[in-house]
Amino acid sequence: MNIILFGPPGVGKGTQGVKLASKFGIIHLAMGDLLRAAVSEKTELGLKAKAFMDAGKLVTDDLVIGLIEERIVSADANQGFLLDGFPRNVAQATALNEMLDRHGLKIDRVIFMDASNEALLERLTGRLICSACGFSFHRHYSPPKIEGQCDKCAGSLYQRADDTEEVISHRLEVYAEQTAPLLDFYGQDEAFRKVNAKSGMDEVYSSLLEAVKG
Ligand code: AMP
Repeated sequence: MNIILFGPPGVGKGTQGVKLASKFGIIHLAMGDLLRAAVSEKTELGLKAKAFMDAGKLVTDDLVIGLIEERIVSADANQGFLLDGFPRNVAQATALNEMLDRHGLKIDRVIFMDASNEALLERLTGRLICSACGFSFHRHYSPPKIEGQCDKCAGSLYQRADDTEEVISHRLEVYAEQTAPLLDFYGQDEAFRKVNAKSGMDEVYSSLLEAVKG
């Protein structure tokens, strides 16, 4: 089972992607997480990516395409993979198709998660992330039991550097210009499904399960 989950920043791809991937026994490949790990390890790629990420811009295609190819053919992807945050533009989607062909792989579902800009802005500005396990909280809607501390693993919570109002509005513009055209790219594909991601977490998860199965 190979799945692409796409949609605007803050729509819940990360949170839902982790759950879906574990349900289907496949690996969750979140491009943003791979890049943040490279930045914190100060690898050559991380050093190149950092400035783009801090500004809310897309990292160049050559960097992210190489990174994803390495992972989709790795041993831990033999049951399948869920891509979250990749592809993020038409050039990446085209490169992905080529690499899938080369490796004899195919995508079973391309799921688009949809929500309004107001909801996204509200979710992103309140988002708190665990530095140890990556689990997300929201200051108002799903606050941790103890302030600043993860309920799951007691790790410390932080706000992502690009979750400030200014960078978020830029990320939403980048999404509209570069990622939204993927709706045309994949829209006619038999694997394509659209899910309403405006409701609560459990309801969205059920819709995603239906989209994967149906
Ligand atoms: P995310 O965690 O998905 O919100 O991604 C955080 C940041 O990582 C984005 O704002 C981009 O700077 C970068 N990024 C993530 N995925 C990609 C991608 N597929 N192509 C280029 N840049 C990306």
